[in-house]
Amino acid sequence: MILKVDKVKKYFPIKKGIFLLTAGYVRALEEVSFEISEGQTIGVVGESGCGKTTLGRVIAKVYDATSGRIFYTPHGKENNAIAQAAEIRKNTEKQIMKNYRKDVQMIFQDPYNSLDPRMTIGDILAEPLQVHKVCSSEAALNETVSQLLLKVGLYPEYASRYPHEFSGGQRQRISIARAIALHPRMIICDEPTSALDVSVQSQIINLLKDLQKEYQMAYLFISHNLDVIYHVSDWIMVMYLGNVVEIATPEALFEDPLHPYTSALMKAIPNWNPEERSLGETTLQGEPPSPIAPPSGCPFHTRCEFVMERCKTDKPRLSEIGQDRKVACHLRVQ
Ligand code: SF4
Repeated sequence: MILKVDKVKKYFPIKKGIFLLTAGYVRALEEVSFEISEGQTIGVVGESGCGKTTLGRVIAKVYDATSGRIFYTPHGKENNAIAQAAEIRKNTEKQIMKNYRKDVQMIFQDPYNSLDPRMTIGDILAEPLQVHKVCSSEAALNETVSQLLLKVGLYPEYASRYPHEFSGGQRQRISIARAIALHPRMIICDEPTSALDVSVQSQIINLLKDLQKEYQMAYLFISHNLDVIYHVSDWIMVMYLGNVVEIATPEALFEDPLHPYTSALMKAIPNWNPEERSLGETTLQGEPPSPIAPPSGCPFHTRCEFVMERCKTDKPRLSEIGQDRKVACHLRVQ
């Protein structure tokens, strides 16, 4: 195990008036729990605003969680991982946090904004290596930068150029090179292909898969695109209004979605199991409720075609169904 996320909540306060008093909260994450191991990909899927990007940023420590715990197993302590894991949400120990920031990297959705336009590609890639004092000389630094560029399918000569000289796909390759520069154990991939042309998307996904095989990195792969998620994930975590509503393997999830929200997402995919669709079958209707005032009970009850009386007051817990599968729905768990 590299990371264990335990009942993590993230509420953003809403400030109002000249005294900036807290008038309420945007409840972005509600007690999210999961584990991720070496070489594994967990896909996170859901509509925009479901909390998936916030989850990535909480794990990357861009945001502090409101409550819950995040355990991280340092390199070399994988055996007996839980006992040796460090709780990093409130950790202030410099060395642990430095290792964590080195080991957990992030790739962002927009390759146009995630690279500093004033820096050369060489400087962008050299920066993390210098901060963590990875190279002992200037020559070693330049050689490492060249190797990183080759690793992501770019020429070492590109090191002297600036981000605006590259296409979107090339910029995302540069972002990936920066993310792997410190040999991280985990990368949070936040919609890494959604700003790219369809033809380039598969190249970037193949590159990420090849690098994962080579370095045994774990990926938390965030996307709203179920086709992409299906192809990259070992496990898929479906989120709705800040809650995890289902976790399953891609095969199980696509063949037999158990949560009504997952089912609705599947039906929204063009040409997915077309022979099983029937005329008049509903797909997802309406917008999700506001995370400022989420509904009581099941968060999905305002849009669920199977809603029962108890769903309006009683929140279903994410519970195991059979082997290696979890779902939060009263239809499935009594
Ligand atoms: Fe629908 Fe009730 Fe299940 Fe929620 S708990 S998904 S409202 S059936």
